[in-house]
Amino acid sequence: MTEVALIVAGGRGQRFAGDGPKQFAPLGGRPVLRWSVQALQRCAHTIVVVPADQFESAHAACAGAAVTLTAGGATRTASVRAGLALVPPDTTTVLIHDAARPGVRQDVLARLRAALAEGADGAAPALPLADALKRTDAANWVSDNADRTGLMRVQTPQMFRFPALAAAYAALPEHSSLDDDIAVATAAGLRVQLVAGDPRLSKITYPEDLAMVERLMGQQRLPCVGSGADAHRFGPGDHVTLCGVRIPHSHGLIGHSDADAGWHALTDALLGAIAAGDIGQHFPPSDPQWRGAASERFLAHAASLVRQRGAEIANVDLTILCESPKIGPHRAAMQARTAEVLGLSPDRVGIKATTTERMGFLGRQEGLAALASALVLRWP
Ligand code: MG
Repeated sequence: MTEVALIVAGGRGQRFAGDGPKQFAPLGGRPVLRWSVQALQRCAHTIVVVPADQFESAHAACAGAAVTLTAGGATRTASVRAGLALVPPDTTTVLIHDAARPGVRQDVLARLRAALAEGADGAAPALPLADALKRTDAANWVSDNADRTGLMRVQTPQMFRFPALAAAYAALPEHSSLDDDIAVATAAGLRVQLVAGDPRLSKITYPEDLAMVERLMGQQRLPCVGSGADAHRFGPGDHVTLCGVRIPHSHGLIGHSDADAGWHALTDALLGAIAAGDIGQHFPPSDPQWRGAASERFLAHAASLVRQRGAEIANVDLTILCESPKIGPHRAAMQARTAEVLGLSPDRVGIKATTTERMGFLGRQEGLAALASALVLRWP
């Protein structure tokens, strides 16, 4: 059985009024269209129908995925027709999906396949209506109470036997414009069954829908933990810098940058949570431009990498290990500075300190060390 996915991303988004068409708006750190491309990547082939002037945005949104882009028509029906023309003739089933519904889950696809395996010509996910339905006049006066028995809200993807749907489109008058593919299929007498839908498949129509769908899909975000450690040797000086705070001390810390072991450990923890290497890879000690550098740059860079991936820092936690200086008096300032650089509220930033009971190199006060962990919420 070959299954081909056809994603319709042809909307101009007149009702969306956001920054460009809704199919390219960012949701969970990637364009809305990309969610569907990824969810349907197990299909033998994916065709994406976009307006002719949006190929560049579509290319960027589909980067790295095996898709065929084609130009859509003036209506949804015309766009699907354009996409169907590219479906290989030996295809068994075709799955037609609106890019504005990014929350495709594999269990929905399994229900659609099961309906076709049971003999349906087509199948679509649908949800019952929860609200009462009223018919109104032009001034919104209720003229009738409509009966919602047997009415369903239909979503996409809609799955069809390809030869049957191709014949249904061929039989449709040339300039017809129908709401969806079930309308085309049933007009040709095909038998279409509805299966259980998913609220995550809600359609993005208005700008506020983005946040709503993102919240619904947010249940899928994965907590990813990262850890970091660093140590610096004491040397000549009259202060140390920890978490960006200048702390007077009998010694300084030796290091290529400002030797802020706290922020170095935190930087590594954040990089670890997104599997992005370590601080030495991003800021090589051999590179003279980092000599004496303020570690705020390292930490801010790691935080921006996390956000570039559409991820969110849930919290960070840091332990300083040293006999001296005393950390307690500076804890609040260290917490506030770290929260500021990471764009977190201070109650998401733990700052702790301990001694090693005079044991080992830390006990002999040869230097100080820091251990950090970070929790990052990532999209799969
Ligand atoms: Mg270091």
